[in-house]
Amino acid sequence: MKDVIIIGAGPAGMTAAIYAARANLDVSIIEQGAPGGQMNNTDVVENYPGYVAIAGVELGQKMFDSIKSLDIEHFYGIVTHIEDKEDVKIVHTTDTTYRAKNIIIATGCQHRLLNIPGEAEYTGRGVSYCAICDGNFFKNKHVIVIGGGDSALEEGLYLSRLCSKVTIAHRRDTLRAQKVLQQRAFAQQNIDFLWNVQAQEIIGDSMKVTSVRFLDKVTQEEKIIAADGVFVYVGMQANSEAFADLNISDEHGWILTNDHMQTKINGIYAIGDVRAKELRQITTAVYDGTIAGQAVFNRIQIEQ
Ligand code: FAD
Repeated sequence: MKDVIIIGAGPAGMTAAIYAARANLDVSIIEQGAPGGQMNNTDVVENYPGYVAIAGVELGQKMFDSIKSLDIEHFYGIVTHIEDKEDVKIVHTTDTTYRAKNIIIATGCQHRLLNIPGEAEYTGRGVSYCAICDGNFFKNKHVIVIGGGDSALEEGLYLSRLCSKVTIAHRRDTLRAQKVLQQRAFAQQNIDFLWNVQAQEIIGDSMKVTSVRFLDKVTQEEKIIAADGVFVYVGMQANSEAFADLNISDEHGWILTNDHMQTKINGIYAIGDVRAKELRQITTAVYDGTIAGQAVFNRIQIEQ
């Protein structure tokens, strides 16, 4: 039986693994995709200390190099649920089970959907949630980015280097994004803004997206804006469905913890973006991972 199993190899999970392994604990990480988490979908990270600017995928790889340099087992697996048998936690994946004394949930979050007509139908045919993954399909074309936070502006700026025109459509008349991103977006010649609009429908020709229908919230008029692609950044939702039966989340699905990153269940911790918290960033994910790695060590020491 492992001392600790960490679910998710984003910055939070990888940091927890480093701290736990360096405390001589027997550690495994289970990850359903490539190590790095959301950093793999981030063009450039400019707010991680130590790097003026680094490609998200490179930062993820550097963190994974630390994992490989330590005695940490790394498994591929999609975790479906956890059974809590008090001293033993059983982690179920789609094809096997693992046992551990402690579990750290580090499964992050994912983009929220617009839930409007045409969105599901045209996903992969003009509707995307990842500019780094799909931006190339829209070279020299016009795309609409829906949202007004950091992700919308970061991705809009990235797309402005590939596309002929980027329209950022936001439901308010001010942006939530960091000022530095706002300044860059306002200065970019091929980015324009559509304010106070709510997307109502993604319209296509049955093969691909052709336009988006918006409601102007001030005039109550409808606007149809022609575009080749739509990138959606309207907030995030926790990847916590697999743990719903443990009853450790708030009403929105974010997992609740104390300052030691422990949930209300002894031996089950949650860190990073999946946790109910103020700010979801790489630095805060790394902080959570540090605290949880050390907390698991302390718990094992007390029980020995
Ligand atoms: P994640 O990075 O989401 O990692 C979670 C991991 O868990 C994933 O690898 C996932 O595959 C895995 N997983 C999920 N469910 C399961 C399961 N059931 N079984 C097994 N594995 C599972 N932050 C910054 O600090 N600077 C930036 O510039 C920045 N830019 C961003 C740009 C974009 C487009 C996005 C989306 C985010 C950005 N962020 C940025 C936020 C930052 O990436 C996150 O805060 C950070 O990655 C959270 O780390 P995490 O480890 O909690 O989760």
